[in-house]
Amino acid sequence: MHQLSLANSQNTSDWDGPSAPNWPLAPSRVAGLDRLAAFVAKGGRDYQTHRNTDRGEGRHSHVSVLSPYLRHRMIDETEVLGQILDQHSPNEAFKFVQEVFWRSYWKGWLEHRSLLWPSHQHQLPACLEHIQANPRCFDDYQRAIAGETSIVIFNEWCHELKRTGYLHNHARMWFASIWVFTLRLPWELGADFFIRHLMDGDPASNTLGWRWVAGLHTAGKTYLATPQNIRACAEERLASRSDQVLGLNRLASTTFTVAERLPAKALQRTEIPWPAPAENGCSEYRCNHGRTTMLVTEEDLTWLPSAAPEGVVVLSPSPRSALEASSGLVEQFVTAALDDARQRMAHHWAQAPVLTAPHTLGDEALVDWLVEHRMDEVVCAYLPVGPTRIRVEGLRERLACKGIGLRVQMRDYDRFVWPHASKGFFQLGKRIPEFLEVMRLYEKA
Ligand SMILES: Cc1cc2nc3c(=O)[nH]c(=O)nc-3n(C[C@H](O)[C@H](O)[C@H](O)COP(=O)(O)OP(=O)(O)OC[C@H]3O[C@@H](n4cnc5c(N)ncnc54)[C@H](O)[C@@H]3O)c2cc1C
Repeated sequence: MHQLSLANSQNTSDWDGPSAPNWPLAPSRVAGLDRLAAFVAKGGRDYQTHRNTDRGEGRHSHVSVLSPYLRHRMIDETEVLGQILDQHSPNEAFKFVQEVFWRSYWKGWLEHRSLLWPSHQHQLPACLEHIQANPRCFDDYQRAIAGETSIVIFNEWCHELKRTGYLHNHARMWFASIWVFTLRLPWELGADFFIRHLMDGDPASNTLGWRWVAGLHTAGKTYLATPQNIRACAEERLASRSDQVLGLNRLASTTFTVAERLPAKALQRTEIPWPAPAENGCSEYRCNHGRTTMLVTEEDLTWLPSAAPEGVVVLSPSPRSALEASSGLVEQFVTAALDDARQRMAHHWAQAPVLTAPHTLGDEALVDWLVEHRMDEVVCAYLPVGPTRIRVEGLRERLACKGIGLRVQMRDYDRFVWPHASKGFFQLGKRIPEFLEVMRLYEKA
């Protein structure tokens, strides 16, 4: 099993209690399930009371730190919600459940605006060139991503992000707010910096989280980081240092209107390409589709087709950014998570005669493998907006030239939730009790 570099690990004596995360996070489903099991007891009132506290690097014991596992669906939302609601009533777990649905909201919202993310990626090089043309601005940008600004606490978040691949939700909000309103840097480059360093880096939660802070999600509603709100939630990590020492006295005291740089077309509503529901009955499935290979991607590492396929292939990681490669920590996490999935799938279908490609494959090798093994069709989990979707859409055409079809299947969870994610979170949030009931995630006693 691939191990992450120990150079990035934290001093274990800093951990705080049995459910404090073990850095670096192990990239396996078992590790995700262990983390969930260790957190479940805290997912009720404890989370509701303490979730806003950013205790500092390696000490995030009031939140779940499940996001890298959820991001790649190494564990999925229904497992997390189900286990939490086994131990807590919906009322006690209200906040935690709501946060999980925030993830679903952002994912769904971006599905309804599927041109936004590609357009944002397309604009990134020009955005970087633009600030490179202004030496002062470029210097500010370089200091920000190096964690060398005059705002000490901002620098500390920057280093924490690079070392651990994680930041507390509030630290993300403060970081983004200072980036946009104090340092006056483009949100696009901040979002790009985050997605390359966050282990949970996600086109939806990250891009839309930055746009929310900048006031581009809800028109006119910006988020301002202030010394007061930072002190209220991060006092422990500030270690009695004054505003001057931390640079909090330099924070902008007002926000401003951030210009929308994405073209109007990028913000247009688009139709979700709802795939047909999965077939029932294995034999019918097989005879309709010929020799089928299951394609595993980093977007969903636990999805399984309804019948045993003839083959399993795992697609290599997709680049998250049009500007630069992801951090070593992210690359290692995703690569090892894919390998963990490949081994699990091989084990899962061990009783059936299933061919499993020996390692993750790039596009070219994947097509060759399918041709070599005379496959007729590839089936994979629905690919949400992001780099893997674009890549697999490109593959679809190449496969078609070889007479190989590509079919996607969607999880019921997404099918239920996403139709309600096209407007504000409130519209989706008010349906949470209904979702829990329909998906039998909470059985009333
Ligand atoms: C600027 C910015 C960028 C962000 N980028 C990402 C990102 O790339 N990937 C990502 O998964 N989240 C992102 N978030 C959302 C949130 O910060 C993280 O999901 C959360 O901090 C993960 O830590 P946790 O697992 O300990 O969360 P917990 O508090 O334990 O919450 C449980 C789960 O709920 C979901 N969740 C919680 N809060 C949010 C939220 N505000 N939005 C969406 N989902 C949420 C996550 O899947 C999380 O694992 C971003 C937020 C901001 C403000």
